Amino acid sequence: MTLETIPKDLRGLRACLVCSLIKTFDQFEYEGCDNCDEFLRMKNNRDNVYDCTSSNFDGMIAAMSPEDSWVCKWQRINRFCKGIYAISVSGRLPAGVIREMKSRGIVYKPRDTSQR
Ligand SMILES: [Zn+2]
Repeated sequence: MTLETIPKDLRGLRACLVCSLIKTFDQFEYEGCDNCDEFLRMKNNRDNVYDCTSSNFDGMIAAMSPEDSWVCKWQRINRFCKGIYAISVSGRLPAGVIREMKSRGIVYKPRDTSQR
């Protein structure tokens, strides 16, 4: 785990729409998402950061050992890297990104659980 995964600031936080990882806008821009940048390509791409992350999220989980945690399993983040994750993220991933994920065999499940 690198400290770079932990939000550096409490302001300007955004959560990834695919994996719900929380970082600042700048961190997403400088390093991309630690779990999804292979297909979200947010690194050095502000537009993609706006499209693929959301500032509207609820709850935070600090995942120190995601693979051993039932909370992380419940949240479907047990295979992701250590870091801070949102419980629910509102927002829609662009259709083009969902198609791209599909072509890589990844099923996109929205992270918005606030309505249920
Ligand atoms: Zn992500």
